[in-house]
Amino acid sequence: MTSLHTLPNPTRSTRIHEHAWVADSRHPTSEGVVVYVRCAECGTHRVDLETHPQRPATPLSAEIVR
Ligand SMILES: [Zn+2]
Repeated sequence: MTSLHTLPNPTRSTRIHEHAWVADSRHPTSEGVVVYVRCAECGTHRVDLETHPQRPATPLSAEIVR
């Protein structure tokens, strides 16, 4: 007889998706605006630096997976 096994579900953190970054907090510094961002989908954190409002932010930290 075949027995039914439940397949392991991929966890949220291992699923590949485009992170949906939302800014948690912003801190103006002499270098630019340091923005703490969090992915609304998986909760991954990252720290960005906005040097110019018209340019994309530069990631200061690696992505920190919860
Ligand atoms: Zn994500």
